[in-house]
Amino acid sequence: MTFFATKQLTASYGRGTVLHNVEVSVDQGDIAVILGANGAGKTTFMRAITGLVKTQGSIVLDGLELVGKRTHSIARHGIAHVPQGRGTFKDLTVADNLRVGGYRLPERQVAALMDRWYDFFPKLKSRSNQLAGGMSGGEQQMLAIARALISQPRLLLLDEPSLGLAPKVTAEVFSVLTEINAETGITVLVVEQNAKVALAAASKGFVMETGRIVRSGPAESMRNDDEIRRAYLG
Ligand code: ATP
Repeated sequence: MTFFATKQLTASYGRGTVLHNVEVSVDQGDIAVILGANGAGKTTFMRAITGLVKTQGSIVLDGLELVGKRTHSIARHGIAHVPQGRGTFKDLTVADNLRVGGYRLPERQVAALMDRWYDFFPKLKSRSNQLAGGMSGGEQQMLAIARALISQPRLLLLDEPSLGLAPKVTAEVFSVLTEINAETGITVLVVEQNAKVALAAASKGFVMETGRIVRSGPAESMRNDDEIRRAYLG
């Protein structure tokens, strides 16, 4: 059974349809990437999955239909979303940001989870009492990811984690994602403009153009595809 799949997914803002029959599937434990230029509809796709825009069609996670469910219930079913711009609380400490991620869980469990994820993010551990707003962009992205992980998701959604980060920092973010995926088996779906680093981390890729999936396949064959190289690898 496919772990996560959208079928005939359409999303609109008011009268304007932005996503057209989007079909994406991800196997359990995989990292999948959706590539697309500015305005292709990547953010809308993430927002459709989390119930933040009006959608039609089907979104199934582990056998459960999510279209029509509210955002909090989608989160409870195991989807965590790291939005574009990260959504960290700049006036809260690193530790308090992480506690926000665990708001549905008992305090003791949150403390144990924080320790677990600090192992993957040693910088967050050493800065746990500092305000999130004082950290670098890369550290804030790591914090946003760690906060999402504290909620113990089965599917982690990431909206352009490379945005605004230097290439070296982007590589660090993807390297920790790959490590977390390998060690914990968590399924990851990431949308990116930065094809090079994303395709290197992923096993499967999709290309979105003007709200439609126009290509899909193994990430490896996409990395070697001339058309994709020209369009997304510079
Ligand atoms: P970016 O990388 O710039 O975020 P994207 O691929 O994530 O681009 P979306 O943000 O999903 O693309 O936008 C897709 C289309 O939907 C664009 O044409 C955009 O103008 C439109 N759109 C996005 N948000 C809204 C909104 N709140 N109301 C109306 N139209 C919107």
